[in-house]
Amino acid sequence: MPKTNHAPFEPAERRRRDPQRATRAIALGGALIALILVGLCATVLYQSRIDAMERARETSRNLALIAERDIDRNFELYALSLQAVVDGLNEADVTALPARLRREVLFDRAATAKYLGAMLVIDASGKIVIDSDNDVPRAGNFADRAYFTVQRDNPHAGLYVSDPYRSRLRNGTPSIALSRRLSHSDGSFAGIVLIAIDLEYFRHLFAGLSLGPHGAISLIGRDGVMITRQPYDADVVGLNISRASTFRQFMSAPEGSFSDMSTIDGTRRLYYFRHVPDLPLIIMVAEAEPDIYAAWYRRAFVIGSLTGVLGLGFVVLSFLLGAQLRRRMRAESELELLARTDGLTGLGNRRSLGEILDQEWRRARRTRSMFSLLFVDIDRFKAYNDTYGHQAGDDALAAVARCIGESIRRPPDSAARYGGEEFVVVLPDTPPAGAAQVAEKIRAAISDLAIEHAGSEYGRITASIGTASWSPDQEGDVTAVIKAADEALYGAKATGRNKVTPYQSP
Ligand code: GH3
Ligand code: MG
Ligand code: MG
Repeated sequence: MPKTNHAPFEPAERRRRDPQRATRAIALGGALIALILVGLCATVLYQSRIDAMERARETSRNLALIAERDIDRNFELYALSLQAVVDGLNEADVTALPARLRREVLFDRAATAKYLGAMLVIDASGKIVIDSDNDVPRAGNFADRAYFTVQRDNPHAGLYVSDPYRSRLRNGTPSIALSRRLSHSDGSFAGIVLIAIDLEYFRHLFAGLSLGPHGAISLIGRDGVMITRQPYDADVVGLNISRASTFRQFMSAPEGSFSDMSTIDGTRRLYYFRHVPDLPLIIMVAEAEPDIYAAWYRRAFVIGSLTGVLGLGFVVLSFLLGAQLRRRMRAESELELLARTDGLTGLGNRRSLGEILDQEWRRARRTRSMFSLLFVDIDRFKAYNDTYGHQAGDDALAAVARCIGESIRRPPDSAARYGGEEFVVVLPDTPPAGAAQVAEKIRAAISDLAIEHAGSEYGRITASIGTASWSPDQEGDVTAVIKAADEALYGAKATGRNKVTPYQSP
């Protein structure tokens, strides 16, 4: 297809519909929506991760609170029983009772409580004088035990809660003891009253609680000795952890939570701790982060990958859509170009001429610039067709059109086939002299084609050209200019053909 001069006249509307830009816009839009989707999903997941941690903290707190209440209540009862023994021993009537009766009065039913190991009255030398289990006190000396020495050495020790120890009376059963001092009327040390509590109690208290495969709930003495742990671990119970960094944190506040990495298994855990009021005990609940986040990980994986796939699908889809659109737009603009092109000559057709004239006319008026038109008509073409045949006529037409196209090199100039063997050349911003020059160039070029035409007085194919111009100081419209060029052409035909004739206003 010969080169045409349409490009500068492409309507702005068509430039806006640049397929490349449309495709990019769709792809970008798709990517943006996908990004928003992924962003939303990430936000929701992040929030639910925080929620999971918050829930774990709540659970730990609630567990510790319930355990604390249970311990508190039981210890209150033990302390009351202990106090009852101390009070009873101060009653002369009670001490005077026979051993069995005295035992029943002093220890009442508390001594039969499930995890209560023994209630003992121990004298100043460390020997058992009254035993809740036997009328005849069991043998043994406990003067070396902390629960004894603390009360012996400090008249104001009050209720003392011991570290865990292995009971000598009960085959080494792990126990802790509550003791109170007995004093003579002069205040001197008379011995202690002791309640030994089986550590089974704590084990039972925590039993069945589940804090995930790597979690634990522990009861720790304020001196750092591990009293019990769920899940139970014989190696850990009795261990002194006072040097551990976690323990130092436990001691820093009555209650709190923090995250720390375990030096033993390298697992990060959420620790919650709580001091049991009035007792030298700390309840610690530790949940491993992998356990806390286990459900979250699963959910995040499923939702995350689904969103990812969805987002990716969206992007791919929008790319496909964009590509499809680009193909369509290309096809459309090709069609449009075809609809504006004359099939035989490759110049613009009548329709495109109308558009170009319209546009250039408006521009000339707006910018107040001169505007010229050439009307080109092949001379004696009917005769040519008759002599050389219609096919040869078509070939000559195409050759002439090519000549016209090649003679107008300025970008805003354009040529179109007006109909039959007539062409119109639009020359924006061109004065009459310029128009005459272009016309002459065309005329000469056609003549120089030297296409034989026996029926012409020139022996070759020639064309006559009428020119007309419009200047901003003139009235009239574009049809008047066309009409003027046509009239000028008529003049050229009448005065010998193969010439350029400008329009002369009458
Ligand atoms: P004049 O010098 O006065 O212009 O004489 P002319 O024969 O060219 O005048 P006219 O306009 O009467 O004839 C135009 C002829 O051009 C008619 C037709 O035979 C021929 N023609 C028009 N369109 C085509 C076309 O598409 N192909 C061919 N081969 N011939 C065409
Ligand atoms: Mg004609
Ligand atoms: Mg003609």
